[in-house]
Amino acid sequence: METLTNRAKPVDRRPMNFWEKIYLPAVIKGLGITFRHLFKKKATYNFPEQKRPFSPVFRGLHILNRDEEGRERCTACGLCAVACPAEAITMEAAERKPGEEHLYREEKYAARYEINMLRCIFCGFCEEACPKDAIYLTETFAPANYQRKGFIYGKEDLLIPFPPIENQSATEKL
Ligand code: SF4
Ligand code: SF4
Repeated sequence: METLTNRAKPVDRRPMNFWEKIYLPAVIKGLGITFRHLFKKKATYNFPEQKRPFSPVFRGLHILNRDEEGRERCTACGLCAVACPAEAITMEAAERKPGEEHLYREEKYAARYEINMLRCIFCGFCEEACPKDAIYLTETFAPANYQRKGFIYGKEDLLIPFPPIENQSATEKL
């Protein structure tokens, strides 16, 4: 009979001999395997104290970026929402008022900007679609939460603080 792999072993139906009946050699063999693994590199991490290194192409939680003067870059054009295959992004646009030039870079800005992390598949299309370099995917992931609404990230969660907090990366602020 053809098999997909060569790992299948026929079942041994011979009656057990004396050593097999007392199980001692099997127990010693098992302990030997356990002992060997004591000196091998561990496959597990002591999360959250110890973080797993991510692949260079890992895409995690989003941030909304500011320009060098601290103004919000997002102009609420909606291209990220259109590009999103999971329909995870919603926003409401607003007009910049006189005197708000120090807050928003363009005449239009996102008064509300939300990403539903339960829908998001972290494909990065929103980042690619953005003409203003306003949205980036970072190297962190959404922490666990008991409530669905905890996975709806609003503008206050996504926008990077200004001025930047010393000794803290953008991803740690989320
Ligand atoms: S990463 Fe992909 S799925 Fe997630 S919000 Fe951006 S475009 Fe949508
Ligand atoms: S994040 Fe970029 S693509 Fe999305 S609405 Fe803002 S400016 Fe447009």
